Amino acid sequence: RIVYLNGEYMPEEEAKVSVFDRGFVMGDAVYEVTSVLDGKILEFEGHMNRLARSLAELEMTCDLTRDEWIEIHRELVKRNDLEEGMIYLQVSRGNAGDRDFHYPPEGTPPTVVLYTQSKPNLADDPKAKEGIKVISLPDLRWHRRDIKTVQLLYPSMAKMAAEKAGKNDAWFVEDGFVTEGSSNNVYIVKDNKIITRHLSHDILHGITRASLLKYAAEAQMEIEERPFTIEEAQAADEAFFTSASAFVMPVVEIDGETVGEGVVGPVAVRLREIYLDESRKAAI
Ligand code: PLP
Repeated sequence: RIVYLNGEYMPEEEAKVSVFDRGFVMGDAVYEVTSVLDGKILEFEGHMNRLARSLAELEMTCDLTRDEWIEIHRELVKRNDLEEGMIYLQVSRGNAGDRDFHYPPEGTPPTVVLYTQSKPNLADDPKAKEGIKVISLPDLRWHRRDIKTVQLLYPSMAKMAAEKAGKNDAWFVEDGFVTEGSSNNVYIVKDNKIITRHLSHDILHGITRASLLKYAAEAQMEIEERPFTIEEAQAADEAFFTSASAFVMPVVEIDGETVGEGVVGPVAVRLREIYLDESRKAAI
């Protein structure tokens, strides 16, 4: 695999980052994951806008232009013959020298890494037909979940806990209400209305979420942005989640209780179709 590191393309074995890098020592880095279908990049603008926002919120600078970002993405797709899969992008605050909580001096170059992951069945994931099962867990993450940082230890622990329980993923709960999934935004459907938590610092502002809500509104579907509880989700007609790499994924069981009939419902199926169609059309 050919990866990108700080301005150069190289075989993955040659891509080395300093042990002093703040991404490594402090988790001081932000990232994006973008899907590729038919060799084209989905939701590029959305991911780049969120990257710019994450960097700004953390007072991190990276002087790559939009044109340079798109060129790197396309070059990696080309060099790796990527038809279907993901592109991972990470910007860390760079090599700070001796360990120090303070940020390194202005002008310290960030560390920029991008690589591809091939997933031949990304759009045709069999799990989308069966639906997935989730457990709920307390949301023990920090309170700026709107910034997409690489601090993913708790979500990793949650996914391991789900796996141990024989389920697929975890939904986080705070103050009695569902915030989001371990790596996705969550929704329920009741009487054909789509309900999803409103945007705030409590959740990541999903790029898939933004587009899906736009497409749903264009299709005259009713949407309500507000928090909901696990009990309300269990009693809903359908549940699903969205993320860049899973698109729209039906959820058929929460904490051992089936949602609706316990099978994939028509709203999730329709939304997945709409989302895949529209985002393929808009891919670049
Ligand atoms: N929420 C969290 C915590 C995530 O990690 C992700 C994706 O990684 C999402 C939501 C979904 O965001 P997007 O649709 O931009 O992938």
